[in-house]
Amino acid sequence: MVSTLNQKSTSATARAPDDILMSRVRAGHPAEFRPLYHRHYPAVFAYALTCARTSLDAYELTLQAFTETLQRLIGGERPKDQLAGSLRLQLMDCLRTIAVRKCARDGEGFSSRFREWVADGAPWPLQEREQFTLAWEKSSRETRCLLWHTVLDRDEPLLASRITGIAQPSIEDTRASTLSSLRYGRMALYLGRMDILPECREAIQTLAVQPNYPAPLHHAYACESCYEAYQDIAHLDARLEAHLPGHLLGWWPALEYPVLKASVTSPPSDPPFLERAIQQARTAYDHGTKATGPLAALRTRVGLAIAGFALGATLGAVVTHALLDGHRGNGKAVTSDLIDLQQQHD
Ligand SMILES: [Zn+2]
Repeated sequence: MVSTLNQKSTSATARAPDDILMSRVRAGHPAEFRPLYHRHYPAVFAYALTCARTSLDAYELTLQAFTETLQRLIGGERPKDQLAGSLRLQLMDCLRTIAVRKCARDGEGFSSRFREWVADGAPWPLQEREQFTLAWEKSSRETRCLLWHTVLDRDEPLLASRITGIAQPSIEDTRASTLSSLRYGRMALYLGRMDILPECREAIQTLAVQPNYPAPLHHAYACESCYEAYQDIAHLDARLEAHLPGHLLGWWPALEYPVLKASVTSPPSDPPFLERAIQQARTAYDHGTKATGPLAALRTRVGLAIAGFALGATLGAVVTHALLDGHRGNGKAVTSDLIDLQQQHD
């Protein structure tokens, strides 16, 4: 067991899809978390920037979200059903939970918009499209993972390929066929309604095959019942992008987030917190298999790693607060600067 746990990340590991790496982490191989950290860091840090006041505040939130998510994986916790299949969503959900909790205690490190949202009770967007969301929730974990990374979060094809395990040349075709399946799922939900009229059924069935056919199109625009279903079916990718992130995460600054994500690069090396968490989880696993059971020991050790990180980050915040304030608009600089600073404090 020790020899496999001591393996460093290999190129094969770096190419493994998210679900395989997450399974390995759950099985007691915490070092397999490294490629997951690098894949998802830019998105999670960008999401943190939408909540935080400064880059350093965002960096703290980001590292806490990664650490807690690593801890949950090691502990074998099941994610919420609607987030299953996507580590990115689990990380963002974790980050928002941490941010809301911290902001409710002290709003100092948060943007004014985020503070206002929390002060209002952190409300979720109203659920206006129940059937549309239902079609999403009925789809498989693999489908939701693919759609999140290709349609909703719009990752580069290479990154989406790494995350999903689908070969890059096949990503676009797989995305199109997946959207098509979801489109039929949405239509089936509408056609399955007890109160649907025959002319509505006929119009929607025709439009699913011929989206611009004049007579049913005219019906869809004139019929209140068909209009929403038609829009969901005809413009599924745009509807997904517009409604699902808010439904899944609550806090979703749709305009700000993609701009910030495009400006952030993955860190060139592992941050000290990650090495420490992995090392301590590995040690705890070795001890745990001989004594009290691996999961309890891992949770204790990784919890200590979080505490250690929090102390380091707080010290860092005191020293570097003024230096980092002006970096918010330049994520590429921020990432490496923050890691250098974190290493200095480690
Ligand atoms: Zn109708």
